[in-house]
Amino acid sequence: MKINIIGAGVSGLSAGCYLQMNGFETQIFEKHSIPGGLCTSWTKDGYTFDGSAHWILGSDSGSSFYKLWSELLDMKKIKFHNHDIRIEVGLLNNKNKYGEKNFKLYTNLDKLQAYLIDLAPEDTKAIKNFIKPMRIMQKFDLPPILDDLPFFKSMIRGIKMMRYAEFLYWFLKIKNETNFTYAKRFKNPFLRESFELLYDGEEVNMMVLTMPLSVFDKKSAGYPIGGSLSFSKKIEDSYLSLGGKIHYNTPVKKIITENGIAKGILVRNDVKHYSDITLSAADWNYTVFDALEGKFANQEILDLKNLKKLEVFYSVMQFSFGIAKEFKDFPHYSRVPLEEKLVSPDGTIYERLEVHVYNYDPTKAPEGKTTVTVSFYTTKREFWIDARKNNRPVYRKAKNDFLEKIIELLDKRLGGIKDKIEVIDVATPATFLRYTNNWKGSTQGWLPGKNLLAKSPVGFKLPGLKNFYYSSHWNQPGGGLPIAIKTGRDVAKLICKENKIKFSVNH
Ligand SMILES: Cc1cc2nc3c(=O)[nH]c(=O)nc-3n(C[C@H](O)[C@H](O)[C@H](O)COP(=O)(O)OP(=O)(O)OC[C@H]3O[C@@H](n4cnc5c(N)ncnc54)[C@H](O)[C@@H]3O)c2cc1C
Repeated sequence: MKINIIGAGVSGLSAGCYLQMNGFETQIFEKHSIPGGLCTSWTKDGYTFDGSAHWILGSDSGSSFYKLWSELLDMKKIKFHNHDIRIEVGLLNNKNKYGEKNFKLYTNLDKLQAYLIDLAPEDTKAIKNFIKPMRIMQKFDLPPILDDLPFFKSMIRGIKMMRYAEFLYWFLKIKNETNFTYAKRFKNPFLRESFELLYDGEEVNMMVLTMPLSVFDKKSAGYPIGGSLSFSKKIEDSYLSLGGKIHYNTPVKKIITENGIAKGILVRNDVKHYSDITLSAADWNYTVFDALEGKFANQEILDLKNLKKLEVFYSVMQFSFGIAKEFKDFPHYSRVPLEEKLVSPDGTIYERLEVHVYNYDPTKAPEGKTTVTVSFYTTKREFWIDARKNNRPVYRKAKNDFLEKIIELLDKRLGGIKDKIEVIDVATPATFLRYTNNWKGSTQGWLPGKNLLAKSPVGFKLPGLKNFYYSSHWNQPGGGLPIAIKTGRDVAKLICKENKIKFSVNH
């Protein structure tokens, strides 16, 4: 049975691998010249800049996601780097007892607890209550990867899942807490301010903080040395060795349908490729409203499109620099307050500078040199997207004006590097849209709504369209690489089930 897959991002490659394993004849059509989609890197004059994969859930052999990744690639061959400190946050108003104005979010929970208690012994109880739920989370396989099982096995797993009641108890206790409400539990002003500033001054649900920390502590959220593209290429290798075919530089223009049945795809020069099944692993909005012209959108889908249910995840302005200097002891990831507010050409006002120094990955720059990125997340992506489309000089000027300001700020932050900058690269929301088609330049699909456990509104199928399937990070708010591989696997399983094939994994 022939399947055309649109998109060689992680979800498309993952689906392709599992479908090949189960006897389908697949081929992937990808608009770009390389695999990976958002999980990518680009090289300029010896420096490699990265667009994703700061951390990959499942980098430790004990985790369920490690098992999942291992179905597609040899995880033992990937060297993961585990950071000692997740982020260093600069404070505006308070110093700690050592006279320091920066807060260190350690990834080791024992170290973090000792650090917090040392700084604020008066808050010992609140600190222990902050660490405790993470210790409980660690006893469970989170998120649990669920398979359909025969009745008896399901029963056994059901009994095992009852253990999760303890997790649920703690989850319900902190489910409505945010870093701001939690900060109020501390008497110590340094801790209070630190918690409030953890997410660039934004109020986020405590699960967003505690869930990753519980995983970082287990060294199961490492950074793959070599970066994102090297990681994606390993999945591409698996797909090709399973017999799959990839057509690069081949954007899909339309999905051909007849009487509610997907028949194939239309590419450049009006070439048509017919297949028994079409699977889109490309952007959700592009698939539903461009490639399928909105013909299979019910009210629920229209509400999504009109942003009545969920917001689109932030896009990002990413300034990347190749600098002829080593920054051995500089924090790899930090956010510090700016002396003056910074106004982006898109109108967003920033009060902090977020700097990522790749001093832990020797593959990113020539010896003695370092790759550094400065990121500004934005929801005002339309400015960049519209300017690039309709007024290129305005777009270029906005980029350059903003860049000049960033160089000044970075020069101050890194201690005089202006004359050591060898390479500069600026990516805007329009860049992410252009290279990957992600709607509004989204970096992770949908932003999670208030209810983190809510059912995903984007399914693997569309109403009224047969022989068509969909998978990508848009299937699950929050997105990310684990979601991309998991949706690829789940959609392959569904295709097997609907074609009466027993899903199997041979790796
Ligand atoms: C700056 C940044 C940092 C991130 N950091 C992390 C992180 O630390 N950890 C993490 O887990 N995740 C991270 N992510 C998110 C993660 O990279 C994505 O969620 C994931 O890669 C999405 O994979 P996907 O396959 O679902 O979609 P995509 O990567 O968007 O893949 C879709 C593919 O379809 C192709 N395509 C689109 N339209 C067409 C068409 N018409 N014809 C042919 N091909 C088409 C695209 O070119 C692309 O290759 C980050 C993302 C960004 C941008």
